[in-house]
Amino acid sequence: MANIEVSPDELALSGGSEFLPKGWELVCGLEVHTELKTKTKLFCGCENVFGAQANTNVCPTCLGLPGSLPVLNERALEIAAMIGLALSAKVQASIFHRKNYFYPDMPKDFQISQYDIPLNADGYLVLPSGKRIGIERAHVEEDTGKITHLGGTSGRIHGAERALIDYNRSGVPLVEIVSRPDIASPEEAREYVSELRSTLVAIGASDGKMEEGSLRVDANVSVRPVGEVPFRTRCEIKNLNSLRSLVRAITFEARRQVDAYLAGEKVTQQTRHWDENVGRTVALRNKEEAEDYRYFPEPDLVPLRPSEEWIEGLRSQLGELPSERRARLVAGLGLSATNDQVETAISVDLYPFVKSALDAGVDPKIAVARCANELASLTPLDPGFEVSWFVEILRMETEGGVSATQAKSMLSEVAKSLISPKDAQEKLGISQLSEDQLTGTVQEVIQQNPAEWGRFINGESQLQGFFVGKIMKVTSGKADGKAVVRILRNLAERG
Ligand SMILES: [Zn+2]
Repeated sequence: MANIEVSPDELALSGGSEFLPKGWELVCGLEVHTELKTKTKLFCGCENVFGAQANTNVCPTCLGLPGSLPVLNERALEIAAMIGLALSAKVQASIFHRKNYFYPDMPKDFQISQYDIPLNADGYLVLPSGKRIGIERAHVEEDTGKITHLGGTSGRIHGAERALIDYNRSGVPLVEIVSRPDIASPEEAREYVSELRSTLVAIGASDGKMEEGSLRVDANVSVRPVGEVPFRTRCEIKNLNSLRSLVRAITFEARRQVDAYLAGEKVTQQTRHWDENVGRTVALRNKEEAEDYRYFPEPDLVPLRPSEEWIEGLRSQLGELPSERRARLVAGLGLSATNDQVETAISVDLYPFVKSALDAGVDPKIAVARCANELASLTPLDPGFEVSWFVEILRMETEGGVSATQAKSMLSEVAKSLISPKDAQEKLGISQLSEDQLTGTVQEVIQQNPAEWGRFINGESQLQGFFVGKIMKVTSGKADGKAVVRILRNLAERG
């Protein structure tokens, strides 16, 4: 089989469906594991926290010692159901199963998971592009311990001399979100994970930190000739821990499979590993089937039967989802749903500012622009930076009290010095002419230019710029452009 190296240039071109040879298409489904943001683990009272000293947050239950019994964490179940609701899935009666396998990351030799009857089934996620990706299921399970291989070059078991195991992660609550094979390009996979991540963060289910492993993605990749209906053999790429790896790995794997078919070879169902350094996927093992895990119902946990009341209570806690935030801004602005400014403005850190500004009656265009440009460039914001300061400055700009340039300087001063907008205005020497003073100035300029004024009121609207320029010059730039235009138009109407 020919070597397929994926260069950055090629990747830049891989956004659409043309990253494969003509006549071939990608069929891709993603499994996203998200660690839930709970205080304690799924079946014991151990703390659920990232970065603690190894093996300090453990007990007989999460170490799988004989005689220990699981007790279900109610909050974890609530968050799991909220994920289902946010994905428009059906939250249903379900049970836990034991998934049996022998591996040091799971000391009791089975993982408690959900198998044929998951908590959430049959939902979907709408991407910013408008495409709907089906969600087959979102089920609850416990995380495994974390193994670190030492002595090798790749950090993998191959070539390693020793392995260290940290059971702090063992028993951390996870939800596995399984999409339908609706994803048709690497770029669409990136968009899906990004939107899912924003949704999980918005509802408080996850911190969404891929680099800390709280969001891990497996990609099921197959290819087929365009027009062929049955799915061909798929390979699963495990543990993609960044959006960049996701895009590169899917691109590489799909091309590898097409290459194999074109060479008359077969594709074997495999679990594969993405090697970020060399930019290729490598076979880990031939894929297990469900029967290899000898699933059976977990006898130490009762079946779950969520009531309508419980589900509706959780629905009311969801808040505004990223898709709803986007729709609200897009409607207010008349912008495209995939506009970059909108994407920045709905992000978890910045949206509270935009929302407060909109609620206070700020012009949506100003709210989104100041957030996506000025505020985003000031992140991470000092926790002392108050939302009300941002709103106040933008309200002054909306009402014409300060110009856009002045508003931008005030925002950066307020964020830097953590002083109120009024103090920042004083410190920067920003003074605005009162409406009366400004009207007087405008009238003077009109009197000095009677011919142009006559043409302006007779419909030569391009002369507006002429007057604004004159007035700005007279006031040394202290006048607010919008207020000047308003006064000009008022006077023109009166003749
Ligand atoms: Zn424990």
